[in-house]
Amino acid sequence: MEKKSSEKDIYDQIYIGSSPCLLFEALQSSGKKKMILEQAPQVGGAWHNISLFKLQNVEAACHLLENYKGVYNFLQKNGIELEAQEPPPLKLHSPWLQIKYSSLLNDFIAMTKTLLAILKQSLLLLISVILFKKENISAYKDKLHNSSRSIKKIILNIKGKIELKDKRIQYFSKGSGHLIESLLKSVKAKNIEVNLNQQVDEVIISSSVDLVEIKTKRNQFYCKKVIVSEGLNINSLILNGRKVNLPNQAKSISHCYVLVDGLESKKISYLHFVNDKKVHRVTDITEYCQGEISHYRLLLFELRKSFRPDNAMEIFNEIKKYKLIKNLSDIKVISWDMIDYDYKTVSHSELENLKLLKVDRDKFCLLSTRGDLTRAFKRIYNIKGAQS
Ligand SMILES: Cc1cc2nc3c(=O)[nH]c(=O)nc-3n(C[C@H](O)[C@H](O)[C@H](O)COP(=O)(O)OP(=O)(O)OC[C@H]3O[C@@H](n4cnc5c(N)ncnc54)[C@H](O)[C@@H]3O)c2cc1C
Repeated sequence: MEKKSSEKDIYDQIYIGSSPCLLFEALQSSGKKKMILEQAPQVGGAWHNISLFKLQNVEAACHLLENYKGVYNFLQKNGIELEAQEPPPLKLHSPWLQIKYSSLLNDFIAMTKTLLAILKQSLLLLISVILFKKENISAYKDKLHNSSRSIKKIILNIKGKIELKDKRIQYFSKGSGHLIESLLKSVKAKNIEVNLNQQVDEVIISSSVDLVEIKTKRNQFYCKKVIVSEGLNINSLILNGRKVNLPNQAKSISHCYVLVDGLESKKISYLHFVNDKKVHRVTDITEYCQGEISHYRLLLFELRKSFRPDNAMEIFNEIKKYKLIKNLSDIKVISWDMIDYDYKTVSHSELENLKLLKVDRDKFCLLSTRGDLTRAFKRIYNIKGAQS
């Protein structure tokens, strides 16, 4: 060790990175003296907010939480406000439009038809009774019985679908920025130090030395345990003198932000274009932006790797085939911007390889996020949530 550390400089735990998973872990774990080291100027990892055009605190990406009740409960118990996404997220299969809830309309049509049939059959039954036509009475009785059974079925079907609505995908009511703000507040209330603009270059862990050594460009820190996530980018991680390579499959994705006029009546919560070659996802983030937007909508497009449009109208032209926007002349693009992100997805085999490494578990912890926040929460806290 180049520098002798006094007792007061030694941390129980140091967290490298500040994604929600790491912030939760820092909040939940025991240990008195804890610190978060983050290379970026802000906390939040992939869930941080950005400034865009003249707007502050804009949701950085087309985010989505998966539908796990246990995770929702866990987040709410930790003071994170959630609400059902309205309208619910849709998966659009190119080139045909498939809307999950459109079948509800078919149920109402079927119910109206059956009710009319019941009315007709009741009238005919009444006439048959008045005219005392025995054969007709039993025939219309049977028909009425069948119709009332089918109407019961339709009502149950509709009820099931309406109940489904209550189980719809939840999201942070004020966007991911609110999640990060709430977590940061709790972190500060627990006196966990947050050290921004600190890129960790090297972590050295040795079974013969009690402390873990963490080096940034300017500083050196010591702790009893270091906690990292799969989002870690590091020059050197040395375990018992051996350099360990963390899985590093960075995937680059571009997001386009388009501020539009003329789409007030269209509210899109989250659209997933399953087979589209150019656009991957679209979210309406008007409400997930704490900056002032009046009379406009802020749409966020996640693009496929190969698609680099020159202007926003190219994207609208692409999604025109889904009939989401009838007339391109109805919309006016106010501003647009394009931002690239790198994010990591780790394959199962890579994780298994990592687990095989002889790591001193008292000194080192790798949080498995596998590129998904919901799955990460489930794994980390063993939340038994039934997927609805
Ligand atoms: C644009 C985008 C959209 C996404 N959308 C979704 C979504 O909708 N739903 C979902 O579940 N997941 C989504 N993800 C996946 C996301 O990666 C995970 O949800 C989760 O944030 C992973 O957490 P992590 O800690 O592994 O990585 P990250 O969130 O990337 O956090 C890693 C953190 O560590 C910091 N860091 C890295 N190396 C160092 C270093 N050497 N020194 C100091 N700090 C360091 C980084 O700056 C960052 O803050 C998205 C990711 C991106 C990039």
